[in-house]
Amino acid sequence: MPELPEVHTISTDLNKHISGYKIESARILGSYRVLPDKNTFINGIREQPIIGVERVAKNIIINLGSGNALVIHLAMTGQVLIKEQQSKPVNWVRVILRLSKEADAKTLVLSDMRMFGKAELLEKNGLTTLKNRYGPEPIKESLSVEEFHKQLNSKKTAVKNVLLDQSIISGMGNIYATDALFIAGIHPETPSHKITSQMAGSLLEAAREILKEGIEHRGSTLPDKMYVDIFGNEGTHQNYFRIYGKKNCPNCETEVVFKKVGGRGTFFCPSCQSPDGQKTLL
Ligand SMILES: [Zn+2]
Repeated sequence: MPELPEVHTISTDLNKHISGYKIESARILGSYRVLPDKNTFINGIREQPIIGVERVAKNIIINLGSGNALVIHLAMTGQVLIKEQQSKPVNWVRVILRLSKEADAKTLVLSDMRMFGKAELLEKNGLTTLKNRYGPEPIKESLSVEEFHKQLNSKKTAVKNVLLDQSIISGMGNIYATDALFIAGIHPETPSHKITSQMAGSLLEAAREILKEGIEHRGSTLPDKMYVDIFGNEGTHQNYFRIYGKKNCPNCETEVVFKKVGGRGTFFCPSCQSPDGQKTLL
């Protein structure tokens, strides 16, 4: 599933490569989920100039000349691709947008194997509502340790689950949350309300480090090859995972534990992330 670094890479590239283009036509294939409905969606984006592209949490926001936005959520298997004449055929095509800018033309394709994603036309109010649905992003310097600590302490569930709850902290997904907890030396099942200010500080720093690295490496492409950038290229951050998918801890060689936490596969080192080290807290 694309997480913050992957959606960030896609949005940043789209902003660079489709801003200033006009949407000539839109085609929806099959029963792909477009909102509010197929006709409103197509009529709302057709003939619209693209002002710019930004990211809100894991949503790609394509801002249109009308003030409305085309919002894409990739969910599990969504891909956004710029299709050139010479590029490889794309599987599972759900939405096709023809774009033009003077004599230049481009085709933007939304592909989605499992169809859990969606494309939505949102008016300004809807966009504000969407933005308000998400908690602060750890990557933004404006999020202070105090605020992060407060957000973590507001829940009694395992800290890893809280990191994944987009309404509390936005943009963290399973891989980056797993690695951030490892860097900070925190057991993923530590009750979130017992995280101390010092632990919150280490965790915020670790989250920033790992998300920034993920962005520098243009995201992570797993063996399922579900994440690629808009040109079809894989990310490289999978070569830099800290504990995610590892058999032995890179710090102490202890065998890594794999366990489902909140239904999501979680890797941790029982020694470096021992709850015993946090005995006074648990
Ligand atoms: Zn270790």
